[in-house]
Amino acid sequence: MEFTCCEYLLYQIVFSQDTVIPCCCSPTNNYKSTFINDFNGQKFNINEYLNKRNEYISMLKAGNIPACCKGCSRLIKKEWNEIFKINRIIITHRTKCSCNCIYCSLIATSNQTKQELNTRNTYDIKPVLKNMYDNNIIDNNCIITVAGGECSEYPKEELEFILYLALILNCRLEILSNGIIYSDAIAKILQAGKCRLKISVDSGTKATFEKIKRVKAYNLVWENLKKYGLAAKKGKNSELIIKYIILPNINDNLKEIQSFINKCNKINQNKIELAVEYLWFERNKEKRASENIKNLYNKLKQAKFTISFESNEIKSWLSN
Ligand code: SF4
Ligand code: SF4
Repeated sequence: MEFTCCEYLLYQIVFSQDTVIPCCCSPTNNYKSTFINDFNGQKFNINEYLNKRNEYISMLKAGNIPACCKGCSRLIKKEWNEIFKINRIIITHRTKCSCNCIYCSLIATSNQTKQELNTRNTYDIKPVLKNMYDNNIIDNNCIITVAGGECSEYPKEELEFILYLALILNCRLEILSNGIIYSDAIAKILQAGKCRLKISVDSGTKATFEKIKRVKAYNLVWENLKKYGLAAKKGKNSELIIKYIILPNINDNLKEIQSFINKCNKINQNKIELAVEYLWFERNKEKRASENIKNLYNKLKQAKFTISFESNEIKSWLSN
């Protein structure tokens, strides 16, 4: 049947701090799309999730856009395949992280201090994933994204379980890390294949790294990038992506980007992802990119890096 819907509602599941949600991109602050509220890992009930999902879909089929989705650019009218299987799982229930980025959305969007985020108790995702696996609701082509806080600081057996599940299901893994703590488990899964590890450094010099990350770990991160890069080269379809989030007036100058290029070349890595700090971008995306940002982008293109973008919106903004 043709109707207006989005692929996140149909096929994606996000385990956030205390809710299970279809996406992280609701355009409104007043309403959030939610499958399960007050989630603590104990109550994951596939039928409860399915009922809520089907409620949203019935509304959309009847032509009623849920309040949380009004104005969302991801809504598309087309013939949707409604066969139920999850094809994307995003794990982001933990908040502990040794880094302290100035743009951290955990701090910006919650009422918790860094210390509270670092000591906060949360649920164990293992039984939840096991339940999904036992009920055969994970698609063969599923992508599992392991985010944070910082996944190398998850309890060891929890991270290993996620990686093991991805391996036996032959899923593609996407791991987001700050690169400060080297994880043997991540290196092993890179070597096993089908794993994309993304590490955001946002800088080429120590001074700028410390200004943005607010920790003294510049050399450590580049050493770990080198080791992960070697592991990724051994794994079929694995890759290391070094991310550069542009922060206007902080890291959008040619000296910084040239140092970044030199550092990447030194460890023989050339796959990068560009993003723009999300709060700044929301305020300024109607304006054109500044000369500084255009020069930075041109410099990266001249360096012949393989460049991807955090979103198509950022790609077209940088390209215009
Ligand atoms: S339409 Fe937008 S806000 Fe609603 S679930 Fe999909 S991506 Fe999220
Ligand atoms: S690495 Fe991620 S979770 Fe940690 S402080 Fe930076 S943005 Fe926040």
